[in-house]
Amino acid sequence: MSTAVRAAAFTEPDRPKNLLIRFITVGGSYVDVTGPGEHSDKNRWNCHGCGDFSDRPEEDFLFCIRPDANSHAANCRAIPLR
Ligand SMILES: [Zn+2]
Repeated sequence: MSTAVRAAAFTEPDRPKNLLIRFITVGGSYVDVTGPGEHSDKNRWNCHGCGDFSDRPEEDFLFCIRPDANSHAANCRAIPLR
């Protein structure tokens, strides 16, 4: 299965200024990790496909947020609707 082929079917959303990492999901949408960066505990992730986001805690260090966001991207099958 190629996610690259699916990704081409959708337009990548604008990149917010505080975007740290953008994961592509298996559904062809995107999970954004945003925040101040590596040395802050105020980073978070949100999914453009299903609308889910990090919430326990809502904000955390990048080393905690990164694997959670990547796992969500690997499992989320929602396609982008806007
Ligand atoms: Zn999702």
